[in-house]
Amino acid sequence: MRRWLLLLGVAALGQPPAEVPDRFYFEEGKIRVLILTGRNNHDWRATTPVLRAALEKTGRFDVRVSEEPAGLDEKTLRPYDVLVSNYCGPRWGGRAEEAVERFVREGKGLVVVHAASYPFGEAVVLGEKMTRTGVYEAPWAAWGEMVGALWSEKEPRTGHGRRHAYRVEWTGEAHPVAEGMAPFLISDELYHHFRLKPGNVVLAEAFDDAALGGTGKREPLMWARAYGKGRVFHTALGHDVDAMTAPGFLASYARGVEWAAAGKVTLAARIDMSPKDANAVRVLLVTGGHDHEASFYQVLEGWRHIRVNVDPHPVAFRHDLRKMYDVLVLYDSIQVEHLPERHRENLRTFVEAGKGVVLLHHAIVDFADWEWWWREVMGGLYVLKAREGMPASSYLHDVELVVEPAGGHPVTRGLPAMRLFDETYKNVWRREDVVPLLRTNHPASDAVIGWVSPYEKSRVVFLQPGHGRETHELPWYRRLVRQAVEWAAGR
Ligand SMILES: [Zn+2]
Ligand SMILES: [Zn+2]
Repeated sequence: MRRWLLLLGVAALGQPPAEVPDRFYFEEGKIRVLILTGRNNHDWRATTPVLRAALEKTGRFDVRVSEEPAGLDEKTLRPYDVLVSNYCGPRWGGRAEEAVERFVREGKGLVVVHAASYPFGEAVVLGEKMTRTGVYEAPWAAWGEMVGALWSEKEPRTGHGRRHAYRVEWTGEAHPVAEGMAPFLISDELYHHFRLKPGNVVLAEAFDDAALGGTGKREPLMWARAYGKGRVFHTALGHDVDAMTAPGFLASYARGVEWAAAGKVTLAARIDMSPKDANAVRVLLVTGGHDHEASFYQVLEGWRHIRVNVDPHPVAFRHDLRKMYDVLVLYDSIQVEHLPERHRENLRTFVEAGKGVVLLHHAIVDFADWEWWWREVMGGLYVLKAREGMPASSYLHDVELVVEPAGGHPVTRGLPAMRLFDETYKNVWRREDVVPLLRTNHPASDAVIGWVSPYEKSRVVFLQPGHGRETHELPWYRRLVRQAVEWAAGR
């Protein structure tokens, strides 16, 4: 019996390890892209995230990045559909190079961006920040065959004239990458004197102005070619992040990646990196009357479903705001005597129309002599001067505190206890019937530092944190304010 158990144990150990299916690690139905980078005479640390984001924004790709391509082998490449090279540096060694060659030759895709056409040939190896290492390596011939071109240090040298803005014209309209694309403007280097290999289908060219050190001819910048059963797309564009922001670069690059991976193109001729949402919550953000760090403006930045206009005092309420906005976010400091009667009326009609109001930080000082505003709408007031039954409020800067969001309210949904470094207020007057959203037990602070006002005609939220950069840049705070805006808008 004992011997049997022993034998079973040995059999289990002797089994080959089971493979874990890729679907546990990749997004289903998306083209799998591996960007190769980590060495480049260009600023790969800045450009790689752009190359990644341009693909991810389309929703078509699942993108990974390798900063050590020399470590690649057949197994690491196997799950991918296409490689994007943003690499310009020394050779990768036999195992990685053979794996890449086989990857493309056997039917997958390769995309070559800007200086990635340079390495592995007869020219000197380049280092970081445009340095020349003085080292010459034996060429990797298959790379030139895949790219469809070589760089040469012999006259006429491969390179570029002065960087300038030029128009890229499409020539290969019948090709899926070029089909439906309009000519576009870019500020970039314009590569010339490539030693081209036969078999390139040139897709786009630009005129290389001799007055700027160019050839005085049209130069091929994008092409497509076959390597074995695989597809290669080359773009000479993309010197830096600024060049890459040209809509023509983004669209041609993403379409090139799609074609290299799948042999067809479904992406539009224009890829909007921050598409507008027609149904976005329309926010009027009112500042003025109190200084603050510019970092505040990033709190509401980057949400596609929230569109923010900033209008500071003293003109913020000059219009009837009801048609233009869904939510008023106040990060201002103003007293009622500075607000003309008509502006007061516009504010009142907005609030009474059932819209949303989000009051942040020092906005709780607003309109101390407009009792309707603080008693009915805000449900609280930072008391500048003590009055009957209301002692003066006080503040303290640079406090490290723990803030506990209330559970069960959409404004605080999903937020854990937060560590903040902020300004605290004490003795802020507040109605008994507010719905608390944020609490702290820090002795320098009131206990309730965020609430929903009982005001019935519109949705009003007050959030006391938000004095400086430490809070503005905190993802939790950004989420808290975003959720407050969404809730105030009735979303
Ligand atoms: Zn460059
Ligand atoms: Zn403050």
